Amino acid sequence: HTIGADLDRSVAAHPDREALVDILSGQRWTYAEFARAVDEVALGLLAKGVRKGARVGIWAVNCAEWAFVQYATARIGAIMVNINPAYRVHELAYVLKQAGAEVLVASVAHKSSDYRRMVEQVRADCPALRDVVYIGDPTWDGLVAAGERVEHGRLAARAAELSCDDPVNIQYTSGTTGFPKGATLSHRNILNNGYWVGETLGYTERDRICVPVPFYHCFGMVMGNLAATSHGACIVIPAPSFCPEATLSAVERERCTSLYGVPTMFIAELNLPDFATYDLSTLRTGIMAGSPCPVEVMKRVVAEMHMAEVSICYGMTETSPVSTQTRREDDLERRTGTVGRVLPHIEVKVVDPETGVTLPRGEPGELCTRGYSVMLGYWDEPERTAEAVDEGRWMHTGDLAVLREDGYVQIVGRIKDMIIRGGENVYPREIEEFLYRHPKIADVQVVGVPDEKYGEEILACVILRDPAQPLTRDELARYCRGRLAHYKIPRYVRLMDSFPMTVSGKVRKVELRERFAGGAE
Ligand code: ATP
Ligand code: MG
Repeated sequence: HTIGADLDRSVAAHPDREALVDILSGQRWTYAEFARAVDEVALGLLAKGVRKGARVGIWAVNCAEWAFVQYATARIGAIMVNINPAYRVHELAYVLKQAGAEVLVASVAHKSSDYRRMVEQVRADCPALRDVVYIGDPTWDGLVAAGERVEHGRLAARAAELSCDDPVNIQYTSGTTGFPKGATLSHRNILNNGYWVGETLGYTERDRICVPVPFYHCFGMVMGNLAATSHGACIVIPAPSFCPEATLSAVERERCTSLYGVPTMFIAELNLPDFATYDLSTLRTGIMAGSPCPVEVMKRVVAEMHMAEVSICYGMTETSPVSTQTRREDDLERRTGTVGRVLPHIEVKVVDPETGVTLPRGEPGELCTRGYSVMLGYWDEPERTAEAVDEGRWMHTGDLAVLREDGYVQIVGRIKDMIIRGGENVYPREIEEFLYRHPKIADVQVVGVPDEKYGEEILACVILRDPAQPLTRDELARYCRGRLAHYKIPRYVRLMDSFPMTVSGKVRKVELRERFAGGAE
């Protein structure tokens, strides 16, 4: 069914259980109250003339209104366009235009970001955009007031026009390997994904989920919000944007049972000077995703944060997002060495990226996934959709993976990052993991650069622990000799202060390759 129908089901099952807590405003909503707040916004959007299939942008930090807009747009068959709050005018204008958004809901301001000023700067550039509503501003009250003049029955009438295969959301990819693409996702795509992620974690209406990850990304809105509401669980918003202290005190005060984060968020929490003073004993599970998780961090999360059942997920925006996930009973090896097993009703295979032939288990190749989770397509980009999703509806992830005998998947790296040196396939991640152990290296990224003799050569971009103690190419080569195969030893070393990053915190290797393509030394 649709997201709206699923919410109705949870409301009917437990109207008086808590659905949402917003720590900043101190407000809380039961399922019945949450559904009423969602309906107010949905009626307001109807009053503004939002038709089925119309695009409504949301450009806001985490807050209750974000969730209201998510469910309200779904209820009326509109397509919500998630816009990253870290975007600036150039990216905002691109997304609003590319998706053809008619209405935008935005935060007024947060920290140093003046969203209102940026919206005003791009408005003239976006002819389709006819209305902007600011959260916590008279325009928001105006939206709700306009909805009061709309007959409530129109919501049911609109619901009757909807199908679970209708698009409900456009999510842009992180832009790690190029320009972000707008993955168009249906009710079926994301509702099922949220449901199965919640099932794997064992969610019930007794769970209280602390969500410090952004709602604009599928981690927050699908693995957080939809996983919660499809199980009658409660969403706890610790702060508008990530803050380690606010996160841990929300877990303590709200007696949360589940906590989400990317590895660096957990590291920040564990490293708080007063970490030991927080009572986290109510936690049992959570999700760590987005990038590989170091063993030491996982051990501490399990032991010191009580998250014995913490889960690792792998996925991508185009697949709603999760494809594989570790299970409650998995041991440390599976939880740190793999990204888990495929979720129910999703298939995976590993193919030769050149020929497309399926490879035997244990051999690295391109991971392909198929099932309800595969996006409808990239918004308004049929050629790029055809490159990613084949005629058999397999999503070609662009990730190199190994499917083990026991059904667990290991991610080796991205195809675009793979280096082919003298005919040998070299995986940057393997070299990076080795170089991390070097005492002078704080962080390292390995990329391929063009080379006349070998096709590509290996370049290591290094951030030093102590800039006063530089690292030469010869020194690094000596360190590697005898411990890494000769063709994996970096030919070039570049010392850097920082790496180019996406707004979601991933290193843009594409930029490193371009920057050093000509003049590696
Ligand atoms: P773009 O497609 O625009 O280049 P992106 O692929 O980084 O950006 P996302 O959809 O946010 O955009 O990220 C999905 C990618 O993140 C996956 O294809 C994979 O490379 C990586 N990833 C996701 N989860 C994991 C994980 N658990 N371990 C390792 N890599 C992961
Ligand atoms: Mg991608």
